[in-house]
Amino acid sequence: MRYEGQIYRPPSEADAYILQATIGCSWNHCTYCDMYRSKAFRVRDLRETLADIQEAGQSFGGRVHKVFVADGDALVLDLEHWEAILAACREAFPRLKRVSAYATAMNVNAKSPEELRRLCDLGLSLLYMGPETGDDPTFKRIAKGSNFEEHVEAARRAHEAGMRVSAIFLLGAGGAERSKEHAAGSARLITAMDPEFVSALTLTVIPGTPIAKMQAQGKFALPSVNGLLQELRTIVAEATPTDAVFRTNHASNYLPLAGRLPQDRERIVAALDKALAGGIALRPESARGL
Ligand code: SF4
Repeated sequence: MRYEGQIYRPPSEADAYILQATIGCSWNHCTYCDMYRSKAFRVRDLRETLADIQEAGQSFGGRVHKVFVADGDALVLDLEHWEAILAACREAFPRLKRVSAYATAMNVNAKSPEELRRLCDLGLSLLYMGPETGDDPTFKRIAKGSNFEEHVEAARRAHEAGMRVSAIFLLGAGGAERSKEHAAGSARLITAMDPEFVSALTLTVIPGTPIAKMQAQGKFALPSVNGLLQELRTIVAEATPTDAVFRTNHASNYLPLAGRLPQDRERIVAALDKALAGGIALRPESARGL
């Protein structure tokens, strides 16, 4: 397979075939994100993408159950690209169960309901969306490009098309200053987006990013470790999705947790209270990753 630069995928796509149909992120402004800063966004030549699918099909096609389409917001591809990619995937991978991609709220809201329905019918059945927060001032500060309502609308449109939504939140995104509002807003947005999957990551300030510059200028400070756990506690205690798989298994987190919300709320809150009281060993800094 031909891959350009570093490839990122959600933890739950570890067993998926990663297809790089776009290079970079079409937005590329989020202040904390370093993933695609070195890549100028472009749509990969469709012939190359289709050739990769064909090659993967010939080499290990019978073993592929999942395809994750990279890079950072592959939903931005137009319908023509998606139709060709999804048709080729179905042909190359006879056991294919699902195709997924990262999507911004802007990507989703730029597609018509008919386009989203068509994509879902062709197999694109899961979108990973990263609002990171539910607090409008924080959305603005991290330059997410969309606000609370626009994320609710994007989730509504994805669901209406038949897709499932995995929503990703970022502990610490509001800084120490808006920690409480960030956590409470995130819980409200989870309830309003009603995703099938919810995960939380922990913000790591990466040198060279705008947020690192803000930190150096004293305009941003991460909450303490207990402050970050408290954010997670608020999110778990207050979010009320219909039934969502909840995970904090990303390497950036201090405490890996798993369950369903709201079903396992009490158990997860109890684990967080124990951790906040120092009763559970946290992942050491040296073992944390991005
Ligand atoms: S939309 Fe995602 S990939 Fe793009 S800059 Fe923001 S966090 Fe990074």
